[in-house]
Amino acid sequence: MAAGKAPPRAAILALIIAAAPPIAAAAPSAIAAAGPASGFLPAPRRLEILQPWEKRAGAKPPELVAGIYELDYERRSFAEGLAITIDDAGPNKYLAKTLDILRKRGVKAVFFIIGSNFLGKDGRPMPRAKELLDRIVDEGHEIGSHSFWHRRLDEKPYRDDAAALKAELDRNEAAVDRVLGYHYPMIYFRPPNGAHSTPGYELDRMLRERGQYLTNWTITSFDWCMRLKAGDPDRLEPEAVLARTVKQAREESGGVVLLHCFPSTVAILDSILEKLAAARGEGGALSFTTLGELLRRKYASLKAGD
Ligand SMILES: [Zn+2]
Repeated sequence: MAAGKAPPRAAILALIIAAAPPIAAAAPSAIAAAGPASGFLPAPRRLEILQPWEKRAGAKPPELVAGIYELDYERRSFAEGLAITIDDAGPNKYLAKTLDILRKRGVKAVFFIIGSNFLGKDGRPMPRAKELLDRIVDEGHEIGSHSFWHRRLDEKPYRDDAAALKAELDRNEAAVDRVLGYHYPMIYFRPPNGAHSTPGYELDRMLRERGQYLTNWTITSFDWCMRLKAGDPDRLEPEAVLARTVKQAREESGGVVLLHCFPSTVAILDSILEKLAAARGEGGALSFTTLGELLRRKYASLKAGD
């Protein structure tokens, strides 16, 4: 994104980024070794972003690269703020219902959009695509990029092919612009499955160059486990999803909440928001905020040497 064309908000964020030391090109191990001694960025920590079946297979969650783009480890600065993020929406009644519930609750969210959900095979916007993306923007939410195909970006071909990775990112941005009919600068990027940090991996650097924040989450609803078949040991009932989301939000004292636009999630979204609004963290009552505000708090705490 050329500086002259950057919208005011992105320009402000770009300034903050420019003041930060270059870290994205370093390998995760180098950053981990530097740890808090770097004086600016905390050591990366591992997050539980694996699917339950991946855990059973013995997979380890990837180590987060301590990139300035990340919101997902700096929880000390969240100050009981909860930013709602909603992934994998399509142009359907579930997205409409999600927007209705958010409006009723007065909550603003970032929707991480998969472009291929919104374009038909002919490359044209699907029915309701524009109506619903317009609603996201008009009702004060934001659109983040979740890639065009929702394929793991830490696997082939993207893992070893920077051109393929760039094309995937470009394509999603073009898809959102195509639906909206104007250029929407997406400053948040969430990789499918949260997967991004293979050592030497290009995505972190590429996002930095594009002026985008790698944005994972700290509070996992595990809402996708409601979609598993009855009898599956990992299946969760709605009450369990509700309870663990609230529990984690309280324990983490705020952060970035991962939800999806699945029918089963939409069915309990109002209850989730109601329970979160009534919950308390370590420092007091939890309240809804935005990713932008969490970023501002994060940079303020880093600047203060927290
Ligand atoms: Zn997703």
